[in-house]
Amino acid sequence: MDVHCTTCGEPWDTYHLWHEAVFDTTLPEEEAQAWRSLPQARKLSSRYRAEFRAVGWEFGRTMINVVHCPCCPRDAEAKPELLQAKAELEAMLEDDPDGLAATFEDLDL
Ligand SMILES: [Zn+2]
Repeated sequence: MDVHCTTCGEPWDTYHLWHEAVFDTTLPEEEAQAWRSLPQARKLSSRYRAEFRAVGWEFGRTMINVVHCPCCPRDAEAKPELLQAKAELEAMLEDDPDGLAATFEDLDL
């Protein structure tokens, strides 16, 4: 399933976000592998957010709410109404990542 970056609209495959994007960071291979089996809540700890931010990724509460991605033009800002709509859906479906991904895809978000 594809979801879109809130800032530039680039489509991202949810599998890539859940399993592969971590390898874009400078985390050591072993730690990146270990990250993949962390529970959702720990995948975006402040430490990992900083690692992702350093290579252009910014997420909402979950990995599939892409606020900023490596394809975004420099200094581009997320669209506020889109940001809010996605945050509301994310809050409702926080415990159902597949449902959230399907909803984002259905709504072209
Ligand atoms: Zn982007």
